[in-house]
Amino acid sequence: MLNLTLREVSIAFREGKISPTELCRKCLNRIKQNQHLNAYITVAEDLALKQAHEAETRLLRGNSKGPLDGIPFAVKDNFCTRNVKTTCASRMLKDYTPPYSATVVQKLFDQGAVLLGKTNMDEFAMGSGSTDGAFGPVRNPWSYASPYCERTGAVPDSDWVISGGSSGGSAAAVASLTSYLALGSDTGGSTRNPGALCGVVALKPTYGLLSRHGLIPLVNSFDVPAVVTRSASDAAIILGILQGLDTKDSTTVPAPASSTELPENFDVKNLCVGIPKEFHAPGLSEETAAEWSRLADMFEKGGARVEQVSLPHSRYAVACYHVLCCAEVASNMARFDGLQYGHRSEVDRSTDAMYATTRHEGFNDVVRGRILSGNYFLLKQNYEDYFVKAQKVRRLIADDFTRAFSSGVDVLLTPATLSDAARYADFTREDNRTRSAQEDVFTAPANMAGLPAVSVPTTLSRRGLPIGLQLIGPAFRDKKLLSVAQWIEQRVGFPSISDFEESDGPSSSYNIRFAGGHR
Ligand code: GLN
Repeated sequence: MLNLTLREVSIAFREGKISPTELCRKCLNRIKQNQHLNAYITVAEDLALKQAHEAETRLLRGNSKGPLDGIPFAVKDNFCTRNVKTTCASRMLKDYTPPYSATVVQKLFDQGAVLLGKTNMDEFAMGSGSTDGAFGPVRNPWSYASPYCERTGAVPDSDWVISGGSSGGSAAAVASLTSYLALGSDTGGSTRNPGALCGVVALKPTYGLLSRHGLIPLVNSFDVPAVVTRSASDAAIILGILQGLDTKDSTTVPAPASSTELPENFDVKNLCVGIPKEFHAPGLSEETAAEWSRLADMFEKGGARVEQVSLPHSRYAVACYHVLCCAEVASNMARFDGLQYGHRSEVDRSTDAMYATTRHEGFNDVVRGRILSGNYFLLKQNYEDYFVKAQKVRRLIADDFTRAFSSGVDVLLTPATLSDAARYADFTREDNRTRSAQEDVFTAPANMAGLPAVSVPTTLSRRGLPIGLQLIGPAFRDKKLLSVAQWIEQRVGFPSISDFEESDGPSSSYNIRFAGGHR
């Protein structure tokens, strides 16, 4: 039951094969069995059961709200949820309970969806590993599945691999089948990165298509609410519900008139797939590079035209992202001063001392480091050299995409991450800040240009861990992008983690069976 698609669940509800309450209990149970993953910061058990019961009553009365009525979902802990704690995985907000829900969350509530809980992340969404949150790191569910354990001889409890980040909790929640869908946020790659590492579909929609109202900002000009699902067609259903104008976010635009439902038999015959040559970046693993070529060949065999394209400025994306991110962070984090929101230090010698100690106690060193860098970039004597220059580079990066798409390319195919997931012990051994920044090399360019991008799992690596690739499309072609993602999905047959489980239980090194793996 936990393995079905959204559409299948809603049919099962209608046919009375399972009830929303029963399903909600199954998910809550599965969350408990998977506690070792640390995917959730808050499990909203009482609320979930109440919402499931309401959905059930509607179904019995024949006035269902539609395909999402009674469907359980999870939300990254940087989206405000009314009366449910929203911490941003930070000591600063550890006791913060918002009085309202983010627009995207409210839209899911309005459809009758059932909130299971809030997912773990890097503090204030700064990171690429979900290793830097105040409530501990997220473990990748594939660490406990037989392909990894058997192929590498790993002992999961000490050799577990990272989930990627910063929306690692959302990706782990969906990958471990505790939830059908989860919301993440994507500023430089934070949803596509963990999506690829955890073997699930992660869509970062076009900037402006989904409202950011109630999403606690990291970089307002890059942030987008993003969607984690098990399939491209599920992502399309959610996109259809979440997109559209919101008077509470002036950067939103009206939803396109056509439905987001994906065509069953999408044909790639007239498709032109671009391969950006600059994405053969330093640090790209041989295996991921080989998978990238395999997929390019698959498109060619399927009748698509595959062409090399050039995005010359994308190599500056990570540096440019760093300057713009820190600058916006410096201004965004100013609101956390101990007076309005969250933690307040006991130190009351003076107002200045109270501010300083509140921020020292409340933020981790990644957040403090970015505030410091951002203020430096924004100093009067540095402003032109850093902030203004980075804005110009950002425009050049966006122009490269425009050029590629106007030359006839429909979609770009790129890696999503440098390699499969690193062991936590390796990722955190040295300076994981640098490592984390390098991870954004394939994902950040789409954020700078505001373009839609999706990561799709395509295979298991030699180590038995997911590898995902990324598709990037022109603005507002989100649906087409998902159609191409579905085309890939139908051909690669990526396994579900449940293929490696013996019974209904969660994957653990003790109760799994090797079931072929690499397909
Ligand atoms: N890794 C990037 C960062 O640390 C991206 C984060 C994100 O997309 N939220 O800023």
